Amino acid sequence: MKLKVLGCYGGNIPGHGMTSFLVNDALALDAGWVSNALTLKEQEKVKDILISHSHLDHTCTLPFLIDNNFTAPGFALRIYAIPEVISSMRNHLFNNHTWPDFTCLPNDMTPVLKLVEVEPEEPFVINGFTIRAVEVSHSVPTAGYILEDKKGAIAFSSDTGPTRRFWEVANAVKNLKAIITECSFPNAFQELATISGHLTPNTLSREIEKIRPDVPIYLYGGKPKHLKAIRRELAALKQKRLRMMVQGRTYKF
Ligand SMILES: [Zn+2]
Repeated sequence: MKLKVLGCYGGNIPGHGMTSFLVNDALALDAGWVSNALTLKEQEKVKDILISHSHLDHTCTLPFLIDNNFTAPGFALRIYAIPEVISSMRNHLFNNHTWPDFTCLPNDMTPVLKLVEVEPEEPFVINGFTIRAVEVSHSVPTAGYILEDKKGAIAFSSDTGPTRRFWEVANAVKNLKAIITECSFPNAFQELATISGHLTPNTLSREIEKIRPDVPIYLYGGKPKHLKAIRRELAALKQKRLRMMVQGRTYKF
């Protein structure tokens, strides 16, 4: 599969977009930077988006992606998430206050937006991928996603502090090619990372011990203000399989 990094940072400054990846041009993983990174033509091809949790750095381009393409013939978007996250998007994002409720526009029969609830660990299929949401440990209900097709699989944890079940499920996946997880803060901000449900190089190093050793680990989520310190501390771990993701790059798994 082809995975393009639209944004891979835990904040937003010029040249640094927030979390979003595009799989085979049509399926997005989180939406922190979709409309910012893609042309209108490219945006029209995005039909399905897996959302991990309600935080704005993972959802904030959804309103504009839909608004930009509302009048494009046949445009319709399906957003998948665990029930708590769907209900948060209904109540706080597409609520006719923050943004229109596109689940009944232009009419109830053929809306441009469908919000689809997925149950943790129950497989569903999109574009030939078998996908499972698996819950992780963040400050709000959050699920990572495991995507599998005949050629391989990837596991995206999304935002998480130290966690367990996601690694158990990922470790059992045949042909797992990559793990994508986060490292948001440097070690000096461990307390903040713990309270907010994020990883530092220190806590990441303990998570690595829970992850099977044959799979490369790609990292996203660094706060722009702390990228230098995070890079330095990750290098000090001397773990060859750790890689910081690069915005704009396309990875083939
Ligand atoms: Zn978050």
